[in-house]
Amino acid sequence: MALCSILGYPRIGFDREWKKALEAFWSGKIEETELHLKLQDIRLGHLRKLQDKGIDLIPVNDFSYYDHVLDTAVMFGLIPDRFRHKDGPVPLSVYYGMARGTKDATASEMTKWFNTNYHYIVPELHDANPVLTENRPLQAYREAKTKLGLEGKPVVLGPLTFLKLAKGYTAHETDLWLDRLIPLYVQMLQELAAEGVQWVQMDEPIAVVRLTAEDIQRLKRIYANLAEAVPSLNIMLQTYFESVENYRDLITLPVKGIGLDFVHGLDGNLSSLREHGFPSDKILGAGVINGRGIWRANLDDKLALLDELQQAVPAERLILQSSCSFLHVPVSTERETKIPYEIKGALAFADEKLDELVLLRRAVTEGKPAVAEELMTAAEALDRLKQSPSRNRIDVQEAVALMTAQDPKRSKPFEVRRIAQQAKWKLPLFPTTTIGSFPQTSDVRKARQLWRKGEWTKDQYTAFIHEQIDTWMKLQEELGLDVLVHGEFERTDMVEFFGEKLDGFVFTQNGWVQSYGSRCVKPPIIYGDVASRGDMTVSETVYAQSQTDRPVKGMLTGPITILNWSFVREDIPREQVAYQLAYALRQEVLALEQAGIGMIQVDEPAVREGLPLKEEEHQHYLSWAVRAFRMTTSPVQEATQIHTHMCYCEFHDMIDSIVDMDADVISIETSRSHGELIHSFETNTYNLGIGLGVYDIHSPRVPHVEEMAGMIDRVLHVLDPKLFWINPDCGLKTRGQNETVAALHNMVEAARLAREKYAASTPS
Ligand code: GLN
Ligand code: ZN
Repeated sequence: MALCSILGYPRIGFDREWKKALEAFWSGKIEETELHLKLQDIRLGHLRKLQDKGIDLIPVNDFSYYDHVLDTAVMFGLIPDRFRHKDGPVPLSVYYGMARGTKDATASEMTKWFNTNYHYIVPELHDANPVLTENRPLQAYREAKTKLGLEGKPVVLGPLTFLKLAKGYTAHETDLWLDRLIPLYVQMLQELAAEGVQWVQMDEPIAVVRLTAEDIQRLKRIYANLAEAVPSLNIMLQTYFESVENYRDLITLPVKGIGLDFVHGLDGNLSSLREHGFPSDKILGAGVINGRGIWRANLDDKLALLDELQQAVPAERLILQSSCSFLHVPVSTERETKIPYEIKGALAFADEKLDELVLLRRAVTEGKPAVAEELMTAAEALDRLKQSPSRNRIDVQEAVALMTAQDPKRSKPFEVRRIAQQAKWKLPLFPTTTIGSFPQTSDVRKARQLWRKGEWTKDQYTAFIHEQIDTWMKLQEELGLDVLVHGEFERTDMVEFFGEKLDGFVFTQNGWVQSYGSRCVKPPIIYGDVASRGDMTVSETVYAQSQTDRPVKGMLTGPITILNWSFVREDIPREQVAYQLAYALRQEVLALEQAGIGMIQVDEPAVREGLPLKEEEHQHYLSWAVRAFRMTTSPVQEATQIHTHMCYCEFHDMIDSIVDMDADVISIETSRSHGELIHSFETNTYNLGIGLGVYDIHSPRVPHVEEMAGMIDRVLHVLDPKLFWINPDCGLKTRGQNETVAALHNMVEAARLAREKYAASTPS
């Protein structure tokens, strides 16, 4: 008989009570004992739900006080020296110190978990001497057993993945570190086995990335060691997010089960299975329900897939699973009261996905007729959305097809545009500007709420926004900035703002997912064809421009960033959705130009995070991403200056694509990565306008003039001075007004000094 299981359940709770408990503890509102009690309540509540729903193999230790990678590091005593922790169990103060920093020690770095929007804390190994400080999986297993009589499946981050995600060691120390870690894993698993644990889920998502021959040897060594030390324990070697490379090596590892993703890695995993079969002594963890998407599954397709899987693996050796942890989807659609019926019916968040898994298990074990009615209901719900006019907008589809048939290109090459733009704007050498947003004070947030709740009229709200714009136009002029911005006071979030003004989007009331630590995001849902309903940013921008003689940059969020920060429909390729977004934004670009705005910035901070895990797919993604950007920005006149902005430093492997975007000016983060990007320009030439952020906006610290001047000097070694702009790293909305003004003041001064220094040697 087939079983069903999931790989992990969201931590945040039905009502984000997890987030609230953490934050109450951090701010001193509750004591540690109360935090433990609250989190235990949440944890047990989740387990009870999984029991009630009828999940057979229930994960434990997927819960966390912050992040599961941090948990693993702390469990192995890998505490950086600066936290001054001696031996023994790691107190919460150190645990949260590593996550968030203390007054004496900076936090560990945080980075994205594979290609998701979840961020984990990067373990720092250095010369630490790992020990098992406590057996967290064992504690989780015991708790579930004693409190709920539940036979849990501890989830553990596997040694190879853990090591690959960590830093603070060199490549040739990898085996040394494995030698240190394997005994700890053995000890942990032996304790689990002694307690009577049957299944352990060892997460090794690194196996979906192409492994070197050495890494494959390492996997073999790890799992041979574990199998020998704990032969009685069933290890499910779990992969997710893509198909596995090296399938044949993987299926010969001495583990009881192999977990594969048949959603995101469907084609690859299925063809491996067809070609090489599946060993008859192993269980297949078949990840068939999408752990990352929010749509109901097409159960007929899933059953067809399961039929095919059963040709290689009989039902009694199948575990029907989620494709990955449900960490990446909201908890439940139950409380969504505002989403139209035809859309809500087609949604499945974590809890609804549990029902889908149980239903599939019943279909496999009892036969389809036993669940015919449920299958029909599900199919009807999907069909309602499919038939919805909003998914079938001929106007949009025709317009986008027409646009797609053309090569999106500016009318003139950059060299010609540059001359036209220079003649029009007469900007000084090293023009100064900012990235778009200015401090969003509590007043601004309050005003927005008053308006949303209907307590303020549209006029009242507009007057308020205009006042904010007035203040900052004056400040920018006083500071002596060359290109001004209106400040984005009317926007809570750079994606939500546009989503709310476009057709094809819907917003949840409670669709939160964890982004990092207690921080949750509520991504918009793109459910239908995207279309413009008219101007979105013109009035604020034109108002700002009316207050000054200097140029004001219009400010838009780009198509790829909107796409990557939303939940997206799955019935058409993402590429098509990107083009629809591009079409709508292109109209806004033209509207701004028409209204006299001659500089338009289209932000694309999220381009890099959409990069597929498989390297061979990078090029295709980048080419349609660039195309969407160019569709958005290409129809303007040559004198209209297109800007773009990106955050984060890892651009060295995509500089060609950035050049291809053909923006007249790009601003990129550099200061947090200590100028790493600058090196890239030593080997790659960049011949378009470029502003490298000269100061870090993530800190309230006001940088000195000399620091910024130093950064400018470094940059000018590798970039053409006449193409160089000066700006901060990113938007300033999280900063306070005083520190912002002080920092910008110093930035303008640094620019002035640079002009003095370089003017003579730089022909225009
Ligand atoms: N224009 C946006 C801002 O300044 C850009 C934000 C971002 O890059 N994340 O806030
Ligand atoms: Zn940014």
